[in-house]
Amino acid sequence: MNSPDEVSKLCYERFKKLPKKGKPQGIRDWTLLAGIVMSKEYPKRSLKVVTLTTGTKCLGFSQLTDKGDVIFDSHAEVLARRSFIKLLMHHMLLVLHKKDSEILTYNETETKFSLKPGIAFHLFVSHVPCGDAAIFPKNSEDEENSGELVHSDSDENPPKKLKLDITNELSSSKNKSSYGVHDIYRTGAKCVDGDVQDPKMPGKDFHVTGALRTKPGRGDPTWSMSCSDKIALWNVCGIQGALLSSLLAAPIYLSSIIFGKCPFDAKAIERAVIERISDMTSLPPQYCINKPLISQSTLKFEYSKECIEDEVGGCSVACPASIIWCDIPGFLEVAVSGKKQGFTKKNINKPSARVSICKSLLLEKFQEIIEVMSENSTSMPIEVKDNYTYFDYKQMAKSYQEAKSAFWKIFSTWKWKPEKLQKFTVLRKQINK
Ligand SMILES: [Zn+2]
Repeated sequence: MNSPDEVSKLCYERFKKLPKKGKPQGIRDWTLLAGIVMSKEYPKRSLKVVTLTTGTKCLGFSQLTDKGDVIFDSHAEVLARRSFIKLLMHHMLLVLHKKDSEILTYNETETKFSLKPGIAFHLFVSHVPCGDAAIFPKNSEDEENSGELVHSDSDENPPKKLKLDITNELSSSKNKSSYGVHDIYRTGAKCVDGDVQDPKMPGKDFHVTGALRTKPGRGDPTWSMSCSDKIALWNVCGIQGALLSSLLAAPIYLSSIIFGKCPFDAKAIERAVIERISDMTSLPPQYCINKPLISQSTLKFEYSKECIEDEVGGCSVACPASIIWCDIPGFLEVAVSGKKQGFTKKNINKPSARVSICKSLLLEKFQEIIEVMSENSTSMPIEVKDNYTYFDYKQMAKSYQEAKSAFWKIFSTWKWKPEKLQKFTVLRKQINK
């Protein structure tokens, strides 16, 4: 097993090497850092950061588009996974163009890619994910040392009334026994409609546990599930996404999840991302209930909310920008509100304002891969057609969809985005031969 400190240190060092653009600028600015780290057993054991992303924001429902041109959910761990899809696509094209890939091999007869032997992927996140995994008891030491009584994984400030309630609860609890739970860490993510709701009582009875939640937004509700819920989904369907599952011999699962130093409870993480899916049945061949190792580093991320608040003595602000990096030569992007940073309102709808990991550009790359594969194969399971939408291509991934349906049986109130947001097409690109 890789040491949690080794993994976090690699991510922090990789982050330090990135230019300033997109990093928190003001003294009160904080962000979350996530990365996917690849371990290799051959020719000798090694670790390497392959994607690195930052971000805390999520677009509200009214800002979503049906063109696949905007990133809806910019929480760091979600961006790290989307960047991983881009990285896989890059390696698929390397292999198809007979260049070296350190990650993939290709079986031309089967028209499937596989991971090279001894390769595994690990998710690093500087803070516990929003949603169910963020709900766990505060110990009395935390309560007494905490200048800010309300911890939230959200970048939104909790309503003032709530702060007062909790302050009262905690001050009245000072005389209580030090045994037992008085208060819990909270999440800004809200229980989905139609499911059990948070009682929002003071102290430890504020939240329910195990519930599906959507991310908080600024005023406008979001349509994005919390990171805890999404990681649970990845533990069933893999991290390669629907499109690439059609081209891979097997889904790719996370071998471990490592967190930076922050308030943390391994039991809560396991409940949220493993226990909740442990009763699932009827998964298609190759799919399983993945149980990644959960661990925590002793090293803090320098721009974490906790570090910044310690430095400035209170109030902090979530950085609006997201860094998107992956291990492709020369690749680095910075996004704000789901589009590339630096575009004026007038130019924001131009194709060049899209970030490379938005749905439409990933679909464009996917189609390019299919076309190159088709040049050498007459038995392609998928072909490129101008009228096929992003949604259509996702449906073609039969096993993936079966796994998702099995997941859906357990999480029947999961808030899937409306299909119409995925029914866009992209024009075929002329491929340079
Ligand atoms: Zn999140």
